[in-house]
This record gives sequence, structure tokens and C-alpha cells, in this order.
Amino acid sequence: MKRFAVIGHPVAHSLSPLLHGKAYDLLRLDCSYESFDILPEALPAALRDFREQGFSGLNVTLPHKESMAKLVDTLTDEARAVGAVNTILVRGDRIAGDNTDVHGFAASVASVRKSIEGQTVLLLGAGGSARAVVYALLSRFKPSEIVVVNRDEDRGRDLLRHFADHAGDAKLTSGSVEPAGLSPLLDRADLIVNCTSLGLSPAVEGCPVKDDTVFRPEQVVMDLIYTPLRTRLIALATKSGARTISGLEMFLHQGARSFELWLGQPMPVDAIRPVIMNELERQQKESRQHP
Ligand code: NDP
Repeated sequence: MKRFAVIGHPVAHSLSPLLHGKAYDLLRLDCSYESFDILPEALPAALRDFREQGFSGLNVTLPHKESMAKLVDTLTDEARAVGAVNTILVRGDRIAGDNTDVHGFAASVASVRKSIEGQTVLLLGAGGSARAVVYALLSRFKPSEIVVVNRDEDRGRDLLRHFADHAGDAKLTSGSVEPAGLSPLLDRADLIVNCTSLGLSPAVEGCPVKDDTVFRPEQVVMDLIYTPLRTRLIALATKSGARTISGLEMFLHQGARSFELWLGQPMPVDAIRPVIMNELERQQKESRQHP
């Protein structure tokens, strides 16, 4: 049997065991997928243990993605550029680190390529996920401009400096989160991506834009958050008739990419999507009943 796991702290909320476990069932694969809560200071020893116990691969979630990039033997281009690892591949006595969030985001927005190439993308947020999103946009699409706005403006500018060498012809700029500065940016962007944790359950009333924001129907709005599935931002965009993309797509596709790297075959994403959606809806109902 091949063993896989997700490691994080906390990790109990992770839907990765359900995602991968369902794929093993559907494809009748002799694999297991566990989850381990690992404290940051225990990470190096834990990695040695996983190798000794014969694990074939790991998913890595918060807060270990950046630290893991320093612990592995080799990094893929994606993991090196983003500076974070979310997938470990054990290859004999070598451990390779990859970042499948890049693929996950790129696959989620592939159907709206026309809203990216030669167009303006507005990113709300400049944390770890924003790094994967910027690298995916620059390496797989050709936006004319990426504008980053972040509460901590220095962090936003750091992110843009970090990717200056990858920008090619794309303009990388930063803007203000204050309504007066943000409003014209929201208006001229073709794709808007929320990479902040504003709106993440249980603080579902959070939203990175004002409640009276009106989007244009030809705009595309993506929220990386998928708990809840319908965030306040997604609800606002839907009300305006804009096209929306849920963070669930990125979650599914980053997992599918890890699966393929480990097992050499595609994950049946379309068959698994409803299973994950049902679980998210069940969790949402439960949290409304027992807030
Ligand atoms: P980080 O902690 O690295 O970054 C958090 C971001 O949110 C920063 O830009 C931070 O701004 C901003 N932020 C947090 N609180 C506030 C606030 N009160 N007001 C304004 N801005 C705020 O997290 P990640 O980048 O890893 O994740 C961000 C979100 O994306 C999370 O909700 C996560 O669940 C989701 N995600 C989804 C994935 C998917 O597969 N769909 C994959 C990865 C993440 P500042 O710098 O000013 O603190």
C-alpha cells in the first residue's frame, strides 16, 4: 500500500483526506491518506519520520509551506519562485518539493483566459496564496497588468519586487485598499481575485470590498476562499451578473495535481467535486445550527 498524508497545524479542518480518499475509492487504488497535526518546531524531525516510515508523498498546509521549502533536497521551478512547498514527493532517498497551488489556480481560471491575456488583473491580498497566483498569472497567462492591493502596503510592494524578474511585458503595480483608491481599480480590472482571508468561515461577514460595490457583467471575480462556498464577495459579484469562480476549484485542482505527480494518473475531479461540495454544505449547515 502507498501511504500519503497532509501535515499542518491545525489540520483537522482539511478536506484533503476526503478528496484523495474518494479518488482512491473511485479508482480502486491501494493507497491511504492520513492527516497529522505537526507543530512548527517538530517539522524537521517529522519529515525524517515520514521518510523512514515509507510515505510516498505529503501535502503541506499552513503554517509549514515556507519552512518546508528550506527542508527539502530539491525544489521545482514553481516552488522556488513562490518560496513555498505544498507537495512533497519522496524519490528514493531524495525529497522533492513542489507547489501545486500554481497549477490549481491556473486550472481554475483557464476557462476565462480571455479575461486575463492582455488584460488587467486586480489581486486583493499579498500573502502566501497571492504569491502562487502572481507566479501562475505571469508564467501561464499574459496579463498586461497585475495590480496588488494589501492592507500592509509594504508586504504588497515586497511581493511585486519578488516577481519583477518574472514579469516580462506585464506591468506590476500596487494600489491602496482604501475605498477611494480601490474603487477605480475595481472598476477597470478584468479579473479580480481575493487572496485575503476576509470572508473566511466563521467570520463570513468579512469582505475585501464595500457592500455597495457593483461589478460589470463582463468582469470575472474569483475568491480563493471556499469555506463558505458562497462568500460575501461571490454573492456581490453574482448579484451584479459578473462571472464568478469559487476557491473550491483551486482546492480541487491543486489536489489533483499532487495526485497525478504521485500516482501518474489523473484524479477524477468531476466525479469528486459534488462529494466535496456536499461536505462543505453539511459543515456550513452544522456551523449555522451550532455557531
Ligand atoms: P496569508 O496568511 O499568507 O495572507 C493573508 C492575507 O489576508 C494577507 O494579504 C493579509 O493582509 C490579508 N488579511 C488578513 N486579515 C485581514 C484583514 N482583517 N483586513 C485586510 N486584510 C487582511 O494567507 P494565504 O495567502 O495563505 O491565504 C489567504 C486565503 O486564501 C485564506 O482564506 C485561505 O483559506 C485561502 N486559500 C485558498 C486556497 C485554495 O486552494 N482555494 C489555497 C490557499 C489559500 P496583511 O498582509 O495586511 O496581513
